[in-house]
Amino acid sequence: MRWGLIGASNIAANHMIGAIRGAGGDIRSVLSADADRAKAYAAEHGIAKGYADLDAMLAADDLDAVYISTTNEKHFPQAMSAIAAGKHVLCEKPLAMSVADAVTMVRAAEAAGLVFGTNHHLRNAGTHLAIRDAVAAGRIGDVLSVRVFHAVYLPPVLQGWRLDNPAAGGGVIPDIVVHDADTVRFHLGEDPVDVVAIDGVSGLGKGVEDSCMSVWTMPSGAMVMAHESFTHAHARTGFEIYGTKGAIVARNVMTQAPVGEILLRSDAGEEALPYSDHNLYLRSLNLFHAAIQGQGRPAADGIDGIKSLAVAAAVAKAAKTGQRTTVDYGGV
Ligand code: NDP
Repeated sequence: MRWGLIGASNIAANHMIGAIRGAGGDIRSVLSADADRAKAYAAEHGIAKGYADLDAMLAADDLDAVYISTTNEKHFPQAMSAIAAGKHVLCEKPLAMSVADAVTMVRAAEAAGLVFGTNHHLRNAGTHLAIRDAVAAGRIGDVLSVRVFHAVYLPPVLQGWRLDNPAAGGGVIPDIVVHDADTVRFHLGEDPVDVVAIDGVSGLGKGVEDSCMSVWTMPSGAMVMAHESFTHAHARTGFEIYGTKGAIVARNVMTQAPVGEILLRSDAGEEALPYSDHNLYLRSLNLFHAAIQGQGRPAADGIDGIKSLAVAAAVAKAAKTGQRTTVDYGGV
């Protein structure tokens, strides 16, 4: 599988280049808005070609798939160009700046017969697969509520556009609420109906929110409480699901590394759930390659990306208006 990287990003350097290569992919080229940076990034990562012009990169006709990890406002036009050129697309979250744009890009890929994936890494984690299996097996009964703890301290290397550039998709809601929405959907197998939310600035955000708390209702009647932040240096992440027969209490699981602890509590007592410690991003790539070969689907597909964005958009609107807000999934 021949890959092009659209975006000379940190996430590509730290996780995705290794994952693509680990899954047997051949990275042919990388795109940056800056020609010198494209060349330097290509040289640093052993990539043959660096481009500053997406049309030229796509016209070289030596790619099967692209991985898009630019800032968020660029995902939509770059995905549309790649789809028009017949490339499969693995796109970073949030898919776009609006649900309507996300729907357009996912529908365009479908119409062209191309595989479209959203790089929601958490549903690839051994921890979350183990939690999902326990819930699906009925080990905690019917789900009553979920609490998501995803308040972290944004590493200094990432303290750029996320904190001061709403036009690039900055803010903790587009950055982290999308992951939490995807993870809740993954575990509960249903989509949030409506939300209430409050956002705020607690030390880092300049013109965008750096913290958010929200409550979501689910079709089953379950309630979800979510907390996201860029400013919490000493909070550990967590994911808790409470059911009629038991509870799952997971710590340090909203992370890029294959780590964390999962406790299942019921009338029978407490037990630690075992889980696989495979690389999250490599699993995503393996599933994406298989989908291109006609086997299965990406870990998170385009519809999953639309839905996580729709929940984040509803949270943003609810925080802005102070109103309980129905999630608009854009007709998907
Ligand atoms: P970065 O800030 O590292 O990269 C975004 C863009 O910023 C790059 O495309 C690049 O532009 C530019 N850039 C990056 N580093 C430099 C630099 N040193 N000097 C000049 N320009 C630079 O963003 P992230 O990697 O953190 O995020 C990229 C995307 O990936 C976002 O959509 C984000 O939401 C998503 N993401 C997803 C994660 C996941 O686990 N699924 C984790 C982290 C991010 P150019 O390409 O033009 O050179």
